[in-house]
Amino acid sequence: MEQAVSRQSLYQQIMDNPNTQLFYRLINRNRSSQQTSTNCLKINGELNFIPEDQRRSFASYYEDLSVPKEELFDNNYLNLCKIRQQLYEQAMDQSTVEPELFTDTEEANTEKKKFIKFRFSYFLLLSFLHNLLSSNVQRVDDIIIRQMSVNYDNPNSFFSKIREILLKYGLPPIHLLQETLPSKLKWKSLVTKHLNTYWQNTLRDDAESKSTLKHMDTEHLLVGKNHPVWTIFDKTKAEVRKAIIKARIVSGTFILNSDRAKFNQAPSSVCQLCNLSEENISHFLLECPILSNTRITYFQPIKTYVTQHITAEVWHSVFQSKSNIIRLIIDCRHFSQTLRDDKIMNMIETKTREMCYKLYIKRLKLLEAMDG
Ligand SMILES: [Zn+2]
Repeated sequence: MEQAVSRQSLYQQIMDNPNTQLFYRLINRNRSSQQTSTNCLKINGELNFIPEDQRRSFASYYEDLSVPKEELFDNNYLNLCKIRQQLYEQAMDQSTVEPELFTDTEEANTEKKKFIKFRFSYFLLLSFLHNLLSSNVQRVDDIIIRQMSVNYDNPNSFFSKIREILLKYGLPPIHLLQETLPSKLKWKSLVTKHLNTYWQNTLRDDAESKSTLKHMDTEHLLVGKNHPVWTIFDKTKAEVRKAIIKARIVSGTFILNSDRAKFNQAPSSVCQLCNLSEENISHFLLECPILSNTRITYFQPIKTYVTQHITAEVWHSVFQSKSNIIRLIIDCRHFSQTLRDDKIMNMIETKTREMCYKLYIKRLKLLEAMDG
């Protein structure tokens, strides 16, 4: 019993606040050997250790269950279950939300699946609520009123959960919806809008608080849309490989010597290619003299392309600083006001993807040659 309660509480924690630590706790728990038999059973309030009595007790329990007892049966509850089942089925049939297909890295996939799972389940619940409120059956109305008053303080009840979800996503409370219910279509689009806005802001706040994401433009993060780093027109394996490297740079997970040294995985943070200074993202992209030929080859076309679109004067005023050049290479949407056009930004993305990849390959080859 205690085990069941603690298992239940772990599941609840995972549902409320999913994180890797809890997930591994669940795995470890499932791996550990579990006792599935018991030598003691509580029968009529008394502890009983005799297998024969236990068997008899089970037999009479099932016999009792199999005998219909009209007077004890809660028909209201059965009806409620039937209605719920029916409405769940309707909601499932009508829901247009499909999990999206994507080709991101595994890490991004996990995040995205988590998000889709939540959005999908909340979407279903809210769609179900609309079905309940729009049904013109008196019995359903009665059940809603009864459930809301009886279970007002019960945090696990369906309506408490719904009340919480409506509040969290800034949607109208149940009593207002009972008064004026929007059409099914309007409700769907309202729910989608509010859910997306909430998750977008959460994602953005989360991204802004992470130093590894300092080069990513979080202003234009859109829920339900891939980051432009994944906008690949020519979907060949080679292009996807380039996008993976670029995505690591955007997300701050591209490991250089300075990162390794931080975690004691390298004796020094100095660049192994030139031995001149710390190898960080700025050194890799703009400074390392050993990579300068590759850099010039691939950066020059980017500069020419951008200048064509924003004029040389604007280029000089906006891209004077090294930090802005880094931002342009890593995530050009930082300059969406200057660059304006999505097509231009997609083209810059393709070109910077190429540049980052070529620098990465050059560095890798030189390091391999040094290792002999
Ligand atoms: Zn260097």
